[in-house]
Amino acid sequence: MKYKFYPYCFFNGKIVSFESAKVSVATKALQYGMGVFGGIRGYYRKDLSGVFVFRLSDHYKRFLNSLKILGVKFPYSHKQLVDITVSLIKKNAPKSNFYLRPFAYADSLGLSPNFALDSDFDFTLYMLPLEEYLSVNKGLKVKVSSFRRLSDNAIPSRAKISGAYVNSALASKEALDNGCDEAIFLTEDGHIAEGSAENLFIVRNNTLITSPVSDEILEGITRETVMYLAKRSGINVVERKIDRSELYVCDEAFFSGTGVQISWIKEIDGRTVGNGKIGKITKLLQDLYFKVVQGFDDETESLRTFINLKK
Ligand code: PMP
Repeated sequence: MKYKFYPYCFFNGKIVSFESAKVSVATKALQYGMGVFGGIRGYYRKDLSGVFVFRLSDHYKRFLNSLKILGVKFPYSHKQLVDITVSLIKKNAPKSNFYLRPFAYADSLGLSPNFALDSDFDFTLYMLPLEEYLSVNKGLKVKVSSFRRLSDNAIPSRAKISGAYVNSALASKEALDNGCDEAIFLTEDGHIAEGSAENLFIVRNNTLITSPVSDEILEGITRETVMYLAKRSGINVVERKIDRSELYVCDEAFFSGTGVQISWIKEIDGRTVGNGKIGKITKLLQDLYFKVVQGFDDETESLRTFINLKK
């Protein structure tokens, strides 16, 4: 897939052209994956001449927590990150839905893969137009990966660490090579963790079930939103360990994530999920989620940041 980027990004402490934002090939982040990143979505509302950014503050809380887990020094506060983001959106003035990619990275050119020696992290932020990342309508074919999810004592999945996404890339490649759209990771002890870049939900007997945060998952912001919306809709929600074989007999399954939004799953390891159509709880949550992120749900106003782009 070829992506287009917005013309301005934040780099080296200021807003510059995206084209001019370049790092040395010797940068530690490039060599060793020493960075943390985020993924935030903005939804364009032509009728309001502005955009709604979803859970901006929460994304930066998790971003800073990822850096805290690494134990590195970082020169930007939560408020500065939010302010930079709002300024960049205003500068690029998007006219479609978009995705923001904040990235904190070891910008030194040192040789050793060690955070302590010389690695103050720097910050960059860029943005691109983005509609669907995985199809939300077609029904995904997924495969349980033969690659296990990284464990908390290897590279913690709760932090969004760049280098850890090699784990995701291996699982994703295996899934695509096998004619599937996406992979599902098991933990080292064989329970369901999550997708390669999204959280997983299943429905059994009208109960919405998702893996606990202690099963090597990213603490997804969409996951939390889905659980809140499900409870608000009177659906029973349970966080508990999930066995692989439960995937084969569940009534519904879907991925959640900023990128994928809510994408339903049609087939897992060659077994049809439910009746092979989008399930009623999945559909209800998907419809509600799109209302929420686009600003059509008053109860969730505090989760959105509106940026007025009127000239
Ligand atoms: N798990 C992983 C491994 C991810 O990369 C993502 C995407 N950020 C998610 C889950 C979903 O998280 P969120 O809902 O916060 O985007």
